[in-house]
Amino acid sequence: MLDWHGSGMSVMEMSHRGPEFMGILAEAEADLRELMAIPSGYRVLFMQGGAIGENAIVPMNLIGRTGRADYVVTGTWSEKSAKEAKNYGQVCVAASGEAGAFRAIPPRSEWRLDPQAAYVHICSNETIGGVEFHWTPDTGDVPLVADMSSNILSRPIDVSRYGLIYAGAQKNMGPSGVTVVIVREDLLGHALPITPAAFNYQVQAQNDSMYNTPPTYAIYIAGLVFKHVKSLGGLATMEEHNRAKARLLYDFLDGSRFFRNEVAPADRSLMNVPFHLRDASLDKAFLDGARQRGMVQLKGHRIVGGMRASIYNAMPIEGVRALVAYLREFEAAHG
Ligand code: PMP
Repeated sequence: MLDWHGSGMSVMEMSHRGPEFMGILAEAEADLRELMAIPSGYRVLFMQGGAIGENAIVPMNLIGRTGRADYVVTGTWSEKSAKEAKNYGQVCVAASGEAGAFRAIPPRSEWRLDPQAAYVHICSNETIGGVEFHWTPDTGDVPLVADMSSNILSRPIDVSRYGLIYAGAQKNMGPSGVTVVIVREDLLGHALPITPAAFNYQVQAQNDSMYNTPPTYAIYIAGLVFKHVKSLGGLATMEEHNRAKARLLYDFLDGSRFFRNEVAPADRSLMNVPFHLRDASLDKAFLDGARQRGMVQLKGHRIVGGMRASIYNAMPIEGVRALVAYLREFEAAHG
């Protein structure tokens, strides 16, 4: 932290245009490209503003081609994306899981896609509701755009099926402050005239993410995480690890008469597992007991209540085993 590679400088102190940081940035990009097998016709941008910023930045850059975009709403985050996009063009909700309380992803056969849409937007993993796409929708010639904030790097994906992928770093990549955007080159250059230069993908691509000062320390740490994930065996290993963790927890929940997860089994998230106690009046006792055992942040999002176990890449399987042991113990005492 205080002395990067014997330079006598912290990455925090370096000029972002100096050779040291330029090297860090180039290496982070190269490692991410290798990890995700990003094809050559795609640019990788390190931006700021988070995924919520991207909710505006995506339409500002992409909707101009036809003025219209389709959104598939599968929960809180994609709903927010669709709402924000309305400021920049005509937004159509092509499918929504709302009628089923967002417990399942609407099947592709039910989507009403507009062939004139500039893009189709999905959220690949709804962090709050715990529903995840385990398939890549075919949208024909219309580019598919995905908010992958909460499942990027959790398993291999075929980047070539997407026009654009964006993700805030803070789940599986590194600290908050940097947003990764992976964009197909032919989608650059269609920004609305109102687009701020710092949020214009083409301007950022032309300047190698250096049009403005990038979040250097967050990029540095994300780069270390990319190397770490590579050293563990890459995304195929991550998938195996994440599937094993999720299976442990869902199997327990499905066999329990006291705890339940309500998401359709085919659409359950490997990253975020929301669950409820049969008797919500025991929620506080449950959380207190968890805290005593060193398990924190299990309270569900205020929108859905109940509990949520977020089991991102960095959660070891021992952590999930400890949670399941506690769930079993709590059920035996109160069930
Ligand atoms: N999209 C998804 C899927 C998320 O999980 C989050 C953060 N929880 C966001 C968007 C918002 O990210 P940020 O606050 O970094 O903009």
